[in-house]
Amino acid sequence: MVDIYTFTHGTLKCTVINDGNIMNRPTSIFFEGASPDELVVALAEHDLPDDGLNLPTNIMLVERDDQKILVDCGSDGEVAGYEAELGFLFAGLDEIGVSVDEITHVILTHGHFDHVLACADDDGTPKFPNATYIMAKDEWHYWVENRSQAPHNIAMRMKLQGIKDQLQLVDPDADILDGVRLMATPGHTLHHIAVIFESNGEILLCPIDVMDHPLQGQHPTWGANWDLDREQSIASRYKILQHAADTNALVHAFHFPFPGLGRFTKDGAIWQWTSAT
Ligand SMILES: [Zn+2]
Repeated sequence: MVDIYTFTHGTLKCTVINDGNIMNRPTSIFFEGASPDELVVALAEHDLPDDGLNLPTNIMLVERDDQKILVDCGSDGEVAGYEAELGFLFAGLDEIGVSVDEITHVILTHGHFDHVLACADDDGTPKFPNATYIMAKDEWHYWVENRSQAPHNIAMRMKLQGIKDQLQLVDPDADILDGVRLMATPGHTLHHIAVIFESNGEILLCPIDVMDHPLQGQHPTWGANWDLDREQSIASRYKILQHAADTNALVHAFHFPFPGLGRFTKDGAIWQWTSAT
């Protein structure tokens, strides 16, 4: 059974599908920048375990008119070490009766395996045959030209090349569709993008990996140890938090506890997260 959560936002039909959960990662690697003492206090305040946290991967499907838009497509479940944990998007789509042929757009926010590897089969054939894949130009080049020999980076290069005929490379702040725009949020990766949907004046904001945990609203300078550029990731976190509060956005956070929906409200110099579910 795949965790699935459906809701409407303006005129959008939205479904969050859990692609799986990366289990039991050391707590401290989520919050680099925290001193050991600060972290002990913050974890105790929020009743969080100090001996490991899970990292859910929650994919957003937005349906409107004749469009079905995926924000990232997850892992293919074949990454060494994650076979049992990730790769449930396709079972989830089956459950809600949406076929891969019906997906019209796949927005790829950055080149990490848990967001992108399911874009194509192992031979490079696109898994969404009728979709336009949309990715920030510099992010695509970064990963395709990356020479890392790590298995998932080799697979990433091959798959990102595989989708080339269906790929639309864009600027990181582009308006990509009516009511759908990107926001440049570099740091986690060098050309990472967030995605913003607007419908009937209501904002749905997908910060993706600008934040991995709600606690970062209270501590925006704490970041994951897999953020590529720490200073930029902090600046992007402030930008997202301010935007979320200013627009009273419904936030869908890819890695927050399922389904990752809530709002950030400003509280002095920090932001408090309230889950919407
Ligand atoms: Zn991620």
